[in-house]
Amino acid sequence: MITTPCGHEWIVFLTQQVEEQSLDTALITAVSGLPEINVFALYINKHFDPQISPTLLNADSQIAPLSSVELMHLLEKVSKNKIRVSCAFAGVTTYVPMYYLGTVIGLLIVESKDELPEDVGMLARHILNVYANQLALIHKSRLDPLTELLNRQTFDKKVIEILSEEDFSGKGEISTENQSWYLAIIDIDHFKRVNDNFGHVIGDEVILLVSRLLKDNFRFKDYVFRYGGEEFAVLFQSYDKVAARQKLNCLRANIAEYPFPQVGNLTVSAGFLELSYVDMVASLVHKADLALYESKNNGRNLVTAYSDLGLVDDIANDDDIELF
Ligand code: GH3
Ligand code: MG
Ligand code: MG
Repeated sequence: MITTPCGHEWIVFLTQQVEEQSLDTALITAVSGLPEINVFALYINKHFDPQISPTLLNADSQIAPLSSVELMHLLEKVSKNKIRVSCAFAGVTTYVPMYYLGTVIGLLIVESKDELPEDVGMLARHILNVYANQLALIHKSRLDPLTELLNRQTFDKKVIEILSEEDFSGKGEISTENQSWYLAIIDIDHFKRVNDNFGHVIGDEVILLVSRLLKDNFRFKDYVFRYGGEEFAVLFQSYDKVAARQKLNCLRANIAEYPFPQVGNLTVSAGFLELSYVDMVASLVHKADLALYESKNNGRNLVTAYSDLGLVDDIANDDDIELF
């Protein structure tokens, strides 16, 4: 006897996932397991931002991928009509919306011979919404609560992810657009004085405003972290060291010019280097820190590259790497 699943097991399974990738896999498994759903595509806006078009998470080859314009148009329609059924060439296409906090952030497209039974559609919708909530939880766990920048716990993972990307060649170059990845550590100068003179609340506001300036100065595909109290890390792509330095100097100048309420003007210092596959995360941070100290020692409000220090890159010199 065939029993119609109530979906409980899938919902428990989805809420057990703590990594985005395994959550995606769990969703695909759950949707594939729904009766009457064989041919389907899943589009999800993982940033929960209407400005960014959803990406294709999974699609049966029988469903042609949609362009971002088509998708946005479809999302808009689906937001208004909830579950919308329309005729396609082969049969019936059903669009099941995925909601997060009342906003449609994704879409399940099902192609079937007959109209999808309402209970299956409702179950799919329920599963999608559980997925959206779990995805939001995973995203939140990566963020620093004050600034909403990525937190330190996420930093190591991201560096390792970048270093192990397929197109990260042995020469430390990224083939996409011929850009290399750089790591910068940025620290607010004399921040203790802000706390001492204006109190912690104003100190926190300064950290928040610096975070916004950081976000504004980098692109969406770059990663900005709150690395410590008033220290930030940025992973960004650049064509070469000159361009990377220019970018950081631009940020430094923007912060120096910014009128912080009550506090007035503030500066930051930075140290940076190109990511290299031979380095471990701790070693990369150590090198960026050495460059940052150089900026501090030379009077602050400066950007220094690790390579400016002229140090011999000898593993034996690196006290962060334990050889034995
Ligand atoms: P330098 O130019 O050498 O970096 O001097 P500094 O005063 O910025 O450096 P230091 O590391 O001595 O001081 C950092 C201060 O930041 C100490 C700590 O009390 C403060 N701090 C760390 N986290 C927070 C936070 O979340 N909020 C506030 N208000 N202060 C913080
Ligand atoms: Mg500081
Ligand atoms: Mg500091």
